[in-house]
Amino acid sequence: MRLLPAPAGSGIVFRRTDLDNFEIPAVGRNVAKVSYATSLMRQGVLISTTEHLLSALIGMGVDNVIVEVDNLELPILDGSALPYVQAFISVGIRTQRRRRESIRVLRAVEVREGEKFIGVYPGSGYSIQYAIDFPAPIGHQRTRIDLAAENYGASIAPARTFGYKSDEQKLRDMGLIRGAGPANAIILGDRGPINGPLRFADEYVRHKVLDLIGDLALAGRRIEGHVVAERAGHAMHTALVSRLLKDRSAWELAHVPAQESPAGESVPDNVAGASLAAPVLMGA
Ligand SMILES: [Zn+2]
Repeated sequence: MRLLPAPAGSGIVFRRTDLDNFEIPAVGRNVAKVSYATSLMRQGVLISTTEHLLSALIGMGVDNVIVEVDNLELPILDGSALPYVQAFISVGIRTQRRRRESIRVLRAVEVREGEKFIGVYPGSGYSIQYAIDFPAPIGHQRTRIDLAAENYGASIAPARTFGYKSDEQKLRDMGLIRGAGPANAIILGDRGPINGPLRFADEYVRHKVLDLIGDLALAGRRIEGHVVAERAGHAMHTALVSRLLKDRSAWELAHVPAQESPAGESVPDNVAGASLAAPVLMGA
């Protein structure tokens, strides 16, 4: 997998190098079936498990990039977005001449399905409030993060994906976790992680925020607004993207004002769009 700098205005585009460089832009209309991971599909060509890379790109302020992959699955790495963030920092992020556009939410848009809920509301910056309620040993966790002020690389990117040991065989039988194991997920036993320690006491809900940021990237631009999610997952996240994009009265394209530049030296001036300063190679 290779990430290449891209011109201002091009957005995030996946390119299947094993299929004559077939391109799939990371936008809502290309969202495919969604269960344990988010996939994109265009004209029958699939890219799966896009959410962690997309999260790292949005979180670090990289607007324009070409993602070359030679198969349908993105590497799981350590189950978090931290290896991407470290790679971006190592090559550098270059601001571009064109101003960054965001999707400014003007009206509430909500999706509810039983006990699952997700909504997006008008607000300055990009903030996320997330609550989860999983079987023991996770239980109830909630967090709130303001991406304009907090350092994505330190507080969200390191949070790893997780799974229950008791589900392992079932998931394997479904072909869902071919490469997964203790090196790239928190594995939960009855009393807690069996491959601890955790990186944060609330690592599970932080990972849900990581996934949410990656899935909402499929709106095509960074959201300007406040997101509330309860017991949601990839299907709810992407349903919100579809509903938001369809309702043209609920948002407008806006330029991010200068005073909202995020803290943290690795994040570029938020007024300008940005790409990578050099190609990045990620191990499969
Ligand atoms: Zn995830």
